[in-house]
Amino acid sequence: MLNQHASEQLATLLARFGLAAATPFSNWIDGYLQEGEGEEITLINPATGEMLIRYRDAGQALVERAAHAAKRGQHQWMALTASERGRRMNAALSGLQGHEEALAQLESIVAGKPIRDCRAEVGKVREMFEYYAGWCDKQHGEVIPVPTSHLNYVRHMPYGVVGQITPWNAPMFTCAWQLAPAIAAGNGVVLKPSELTPFSSVVIAKLLESGGLPQGLINIVNGLGKTTGTALTDHPAIAKLVFVGSPESGRMIAQAGARRLVPSVLELGGKSANIVFSDAKLEDAVAGAQAAIFAAAGQSCVAGSRLLVEHSVFEVVTTRLARAAEQIQVGLPSDEATRMGPLQNRRQFEHVTRMIEAAVAAGARVLTGGKRPAGLPDEAQGYFIEPTVLVDVTPEMDIAQQEVFGPVVVAMAFNDEAHAIRLANETRFGLAGAVWSQDVARAHRVAGQLRAGTVWINSYKAISVMSPFGGFGDSGFGRSSGLDGLREYTVPQSVWVETAPEASVAFGYGSGV
Ligand code: NAD
Repeated sequence: MLNQHASEQLATLLARFGLAAATPFSNWIDGYLQEGEGEEITLINPATGEMLIRYRDAGQALVERAAHAAKRGQHQWMALTASERGRRMNAALSGLQGHEEALAQLESIVAGKPIRDCRAEVGKVREMFEYYAGWCDKQHGEVIPVPTSHLNYVRHMPYGVVGQITPWNAPMFTCAWQLAPAIAAGNGVVLKPSELTPFSSVVIAKLLESGGLPQGLINIVNGLGKTTGTALTDHPAIAKLVFVGSPESGRMIAQAGARRLVPSVLELGGKSANIVFSDAKLEDAVAGAQAAIFAAAGQSCVAGSRLLVEHSVFEVVTTRLARAAEQIQVGLPSDEATRMGPLQNRRQFEHVTRMIEAAVAAGARVLTGGKRPAGLPDEAQGYFIEPTVLVDVTPEMDIAQQEVFGPVVVAMAFNDEAHAIRLANETRFGLAGAVWSQDVARAHRVAGQLRAGTVWINSYKAISVMSPFGGFGDSGFGRSSGLDGLREYTVPQSVWVETAPEASVAFGYGSGV
């Protein structure tokens, strides 16, 4: 019943955005909606486990068309002045106006995310475009005081056409997160969202173009990684790859880039340590730990999935966290009261379930959670799992080393500062981490020794498009957000101008003076 309701609702929303067709339009190429041409892909409702809709994989020919369109769109874009590009980026947001709620609802159905989270995510799209619009006319070059008679200056040039690949956990966020800096830097884009959440990026691109972005500047192709994804990474027009997803796929993207000598940015997974010292405000630390792991049902790259607690307060912190976990309202994504929805897909659900079972078999103890939540509505037969806290975990267990990407936190005790730092750094990941302590000196000292791209002190998950974000180790390389994120989309060009009355070109290396 609900399935029918959700599919009908989705069909109505797709029709509202013009995506309704024999098989729904799932690509935005050169200013037009297009159906895919490859194999059929079935989307399942994460909340009910039933069929939602089918669409077709884009395939190579559409990627080809998208890449050419992006090339033309980019030329048109660069023919504008930098200030005009900034104005157009701001104006493009008018295309979103009045469609925010429908976009949030569409994403909530397909991604299985609580509606309130989806509304917040739409707000992020606006934030990213506003921020990067401001950079368009502020990308000054530099003059370098070279020790010769030359004037040497550096300008930041766009790559041309960039390829972007995004995951299913935050499709609208990651789409705008990478589109905005790419075009602010002067590039055209072909973006492939996850095959599990195809529509929101298409709608965003279409709405932004209706607000005044040039035709073909942004193109969205949808399909599987092995077909549409590889067609994109292998396409000769793509001059840079930006990937957000798992380390396993990230390796393949980097290898595809290496084959063509195309650089890549990889924003990958995490196993972030949330460190609580005994002198922390424990109430805040527990609330922080709860949000760190259970928001988005733990399907967040920065999830605080390892809770490290000083011995003397281990018992009290873990017990309070377990109670807090039990208070979280788990329910249908469409319910306004829901704070935590289902996992997004069966594969993820099975992975999380297996990880919990293996941890218990290896000696971990379930303090709370680990099962399907009680009291869900009948129709909620999808991929729900309780907020879960595991103790009696040792650092070498898989559950303490591998990304679960679900509402599962492992708690481990530490003896002192050095032990906490050692435990925190003992994984291959290095995306984020947090330190809870009222000792300011210690908090900064520990933060400085964490091998993590983002560290919070007495906080968790504060994040802004203004501040650089990225990882160490298996969490990837390169940065997104802020000026660092913008620079990933440009190449410096060094220009030398002879200023001496007569040019003298050195035969071999110049004297340097
Ligand atoms: P995934 O790696 O399975 O897929 C991500 C994207 O890559 C999808 O669009 C997929 O179709 C595509 N893909 C897969 N193989 C490909 C190939 N060979 N060539 C081209 N494209 C290919 O990841 P997922 O399961 O969608 O997302 C979850 C992962 O994303 C988690 O590890 C999470 O931590 C990570 N993530 C990281 C960040 C970050 O900013 N660091 C943000 C969100 C999610």
